[in-house]
Amino acid sequence: MFHLPPDERDLIRSELTAEQLAYLAETMARGKRTAFARVMAEAKGADISNDASYEEIEAHLSEWVLDQYIDAGHVSSEHRCECGRSLRHQYIVIQKSTGEIRSFGITHLQEHTGFDATIVSLIKKGFEAIDYELDQVLSKVRDGWKYDREFLNLPPELEVPSDIKRHMAVGLPLHDGFIRRLKALKRDYEQDMVQKRREEQARQREKAAGMELMNKFHRMVEQLEQYKSSPRRELYPGLEINLARCDELIRRIEDGDVDTKDCLDRLSSLLMSLSYSPLGR
Ligand SMILES: [Zn+2]
Repeated sequence: MFHLPPDERDLIRSELTAEQLAYLAETMARGKRTAFARVMAEAKGADISNDASYEEIEAHLSEWVLDQYIDAGHVSSEHRCECGRSLRHQYIVIQKSTGEIRSFGITHLQEHTGFDATIVSLIKKGFEAIDYELDQVLSKVRDGWKYDREFLNLPPELEVPSDIKRHMAVGLPLHDGFIRRLKALKRDYEQDMVQKRREEQARQREKAAGMELMNKFHRMVEQLEQYKSSPRRELYPGLEINLARCDELIRRIEDGDVDTKDCLDRLSSLLMSLSYSPLGR
């Protein structure tokens, strides 16, 4: 992972507004608290979703949680490790069951907590990922990166998640994690749109097919009426049975609750047989 040298980090920070600095300090503390809680909860076998907040994760924990992460801006005797060393970056953990508090710099995490080496390495990795995001933001500030909705081509209706919105509201560049999330949201949104369009087209086709069947039905009803009013009808009493069958099919179609297409096919062939006879001519 790429990291800015500490003095460059501070130089870039010195150009930020008080609001941006406060936002970054809060986000860093929140990110590290979440990363710490995630490692502890997963070590206990808890299944934690990707977007869980530290409050949600800490509900699984009864022992150590990260209470604070402080970047004092310079090495300060007000922020000390358990062993007395002055720190710039101080972590304070608290044991929920006893209320016991321990403070340390990251290099003494294992010494002052007694956590096993695997846990320690996972926590450090989690913290590094948060530091890495900060460095991405700061290096983009240095490079004059500007947010532009166009660069991701986000649809105007797409709802940007509140944490990313807050980040944008203070005018800071987006780190890659946020950009990846926005891209994924855009992809999901577009797939959703394609799906909706397909469903709408299918609905339209179904509607058109239904109209087509109804028109066919009305034409057949008219035809039957013509046959029934034919002056030659009484000369062919043998056709009455088919005329009655047609009436029955029409009644069933009008009542619904039948296979309309099947009834229409039967009606159509009955009408055909009548039309070949003298009634149709
Ligand atoms: Zn120490």
